[in-house]
Amino acid sequence: MPKKKLELNKNNMEINNKKYHKIILKIGSSLIVDDNQIRYKWIENLAENISKILSNNCKIIIVTSGAVALGRIKLRLLDKKLTLPQKQSCASVGQIELMSIYKNIFNKHNYEVAQILLTANDCNLRKNFLNCKNTCEELLKNNIIPIINENDSVAVDEIKIGDNDRLSARVAQMIKADLVILLSDIDGLYNKNPKIYKDAKHIAIVNKISKDIEKMAKGTSSKVGTGGMITKIMASKMVMSSQSDCIITNGTDLNVLQKLVKGKQKFTIFTPQDKVSKTSKHISESKKNWLAGLVNAKGSVVINELAKEKLLTKKVSLLPVGAIDVVGSFAKNEAIFILDEKRQHIGSGIANFNSQEVKQILQKNSSEIKKILGSSAKKELIHIDNLFIL
Ligand code: ADP
Repeated sequence: MPKKKLELNKNNMEINNKKYHKIILKIGSSLIVDDNQIRYKWIENLAENISKILSNNCKIIIVTSGAVALGRIKLRLLDKKLTLPQKQSCASVGQIELMSIYKNIFNKHNYEVAQILLTANDCNLRKNFLNCKNTCEELLKNNIIPIINENDSVAVDEIKIGDNDRLSARVAQMIKADLVILLSDIDGLYNKNPKIYKDAKHIAIVNKISKDIEKMAKGTSSKVGTGGMITKIMASKMVMSSQSDCIITNGTDLNVLQKLVKGKQKFTIFTPQDKVSKTSKHISESKKNWLAGLVNAKGSVVINELAKEKLLTKKVSLLPVGAIDVVGSFAKNEAIFILDEKRQHIGSGIANFNSQEVKQILQKNSSEIKKILGSSAKKELIHIDNLFIL
């Protein structure tokens, strides 16, 4: 009976026979503004599609670009390279414009929206990350649509995530979303940039982001886009590391979400194969995901080949004896990157020492550490329960 079918689909958005409940929808700048014109009709249509999904009891968070592009129009700073202060003023003017468009349109469907502006710092400090998670969950519980953007009017490169693709992945880890949809001006990943090469081939499914996949992705050729395919691949890697799926599809036309559900939309799906975890059993899923998605950490520790081999093959803590260098500056209990001798990123973890202390105990064993930093100094640089290896 039809009633039963409806119940089957309740709480879910179904794409290719896979059911998703919590969805992050990232909207690229080129979908909000085209040729210096705001795409009202498209935004209205998207809101209609989203309302249908929400009425099916799914949860949606929007991560939206477009503030700088809208600010450019408002401040008549079109077609020129912006200085940082100009860009930040465009972001602050455009952000109000962007939110008022979303508010007016979603209010027509009886949905309230809430604005959340984030920087990398909000995501890298675990306390802030958990606060933001609580806010999002409270909003979702009350059927309010959180609309997130990077806080471009205050963020400078050092504290930036830098693109909304990775910000979407970070938010997905925060609220344990099972799907991220990156709406772009292209229908997925190709073996080379299809805007340049007519013979580029579309890739429908990716189970693992290998070096070959990374090489395929290049930057953007759009006037308003930022990261191109490179940041989308990085974001997909983050999403897959939390065992969720990521879809890249072209959102330019109308009814994109409806077409996705009906199987009429071309896309690339990044969906992880089961993998053996090298992480401690004691680390919570939420902490693991948070460490896996660390972007723009303030510091890193470089480790030698032996320590790398141990971290990759055994479930062990990182000891200072295996650390050979420190990059940047970080506080005790801050999340940092772990790099190998070739300075390649192999993992992340919470440091038991600040960067100055680590410099003093590089390659030192436990008894030497206690002599240098006092008898209460811990023996691990990063404890196994605070460690994530890629
Ligand atoms: P958005 O603003 O939607 O995030 P971007 O313009 O930043 O979009 O990124 C999408 C662009 O990435 C495409 O239009 C294309 O020019 C570029 N690109 C580079 N390499 C590839 C690739 N291998 N496959 C698909 N697109 C690619």
